Amino acid sequence: MSTNNTKLKLKIILLGDLGVGKTSVLNQYVSQLFPSTQFLSRIPPDFLVKHATVNDRQVTLQFWDPAGLERFGPIHKAWYRNTHCCVLMYDINNEKSFQSLKNWLKGCYDACFNLEIDNFPVILLGNKTDDGENRQVTPEQALQFCAENGDIPYFETSAKDATNLHEAFGTAARFALGYK
Ligand code: GDP
Ligand code: MG
Repeated sequence: MSTNNTKLKLKIILLGDLGVGKTSVLNQYVSQLFPSTQFLSRIPPDFLVKHATVNDRQVTLQFWDPAGLERFGPIHKAWYRNTHCCVLMYDINNEKSFQSLKNWLKGCYDACFNLEIDNFPVILLGNKTDDGENRQVTPEQALQFCAENGDIPYFETSAKDATNLHEAFGTAARFALGYK
């Protein structure tokens, strides 16, 4: 058991195309709110904080939401600085958002120079499972992408009904702490 009471701050970034549900997933996980309120005055980038216990360690999870910056394509490298874990996200009903993942992943590799590519802490979320009638990406396709990119853990989530959010962010937090 850890005797270290210092609260570690872990930076977890969310990445994926505009509209896949990043802001909604964070608001549901951190504040149990859906739909999320979009404040016009909000200045991107934005972050949300959650206190958690990970492997007996008190930590502060700091979730970074690009909050609209992602619409302009690649995000400035400064935004990625000192990241501990990347959460990639696409919308299972939007094939284009799935095709974009390789670019978002490359952006992480290029910008997170504090992390080792061989042991890169990244997870993938396929969001909007509550609304899967017009599904455009199968779980098999997602799992294949994960296998081809170093065995990325995959979670199918819903910001609307909170499916799998604790599982997904629990894994992200453990990765951020350095456990794989
Ligand atoms: P972001 O651009 O990635 O931050 O996406 P948002 O969180 O702003 O969500 C875009 C739209 O998708 C909004 O209208 C949300 O209400 C909706 N949305 C997000 N997540 C879900 C989900 O899990 N299920 C459903 N049905 N809608 C969602
Ligand atoms: Mg957003």
